[in-house]
Order: sequence, then structure tokens, then C-alpha cells
Amino acid sequence: MMTARKLDLGCPLCGSHEILYTCEPRCCFNHVCTACKASFQTSTEFTGVKVEGPIESPGEKESGEPTARCAKCRSIDVVSLDDGSIACCACGAALKLVFLDVEKR
Ligand SMILES: [Zn+2]
Ligand SMILES: [Zn+2]
Ligand SMILES: [Zn+2]
Repeated sequence: MMTARKLDLGCPLCGSHEILYTCEPRCCFNHVCTACKASFQTSTEFTGVKVEGPIESPGEKESGEPTARCAKCRSIDVVSLDDGSIACCACGAALKLVFLDVEKR
């Protein structure tokens, strides 16, 4: 069993991990960096490989927690793994994080 952490996002502009998700878990994926105030949307790309074995989900998302949707099955149960990569707990896809609409403040 792979152990997973809650999704850990680094700001695409300043690299801070103090990221707030400003909307509902399944809504627009609009995030704000609390350090530099940049806003961006999260998206994922399927890398073509699956993680071996089941991934233990760290649990239900709380509001405000960084969130991304799996490019393969559209679940939002996307987590960070110990090696720093991200994957989907629902379908096991290894994913690549993509930032969209990055806006400087
Ligand atoms: Zn930032
Ligand atoms: Zn929204
Ligand atoms: Zn998935």
C-alpha cells in the first residue's frame, strides 16, 4: 500500500506552499498563493503510467485545501506521494500537475 499525503502544491510564481483553494471542492479549481497573491487554476495530465498497488487516500477534502482533478477519471481524490509526484487514489493514474491562468498580483 502506497502512503499518500494531502495534495501539496507549490506556487508556480514564488514556490510557496501556502496555497489556498478559494472555492468548493468540485468547482473551478481557482487557487490563491497567500505569499505572493498570485492566482491560478490547477489541472492535471495523465502521464500514461499507473502507480503500482492501491494508494491509501488521506481522507475527505476540507474546504480551502489544494485540489486538482484527475485527468483520467475526473475524481478529485488526487494526492501527493512520498517521492513528490502526484497520483489519483480513485484510478491509480500517475499525474502531472499543470497550472492554468496564472495571474500575478
Ligand atoms: Zn506565490
Ligand atoms: Zn468556483
Ligand atoms: Zn483518476
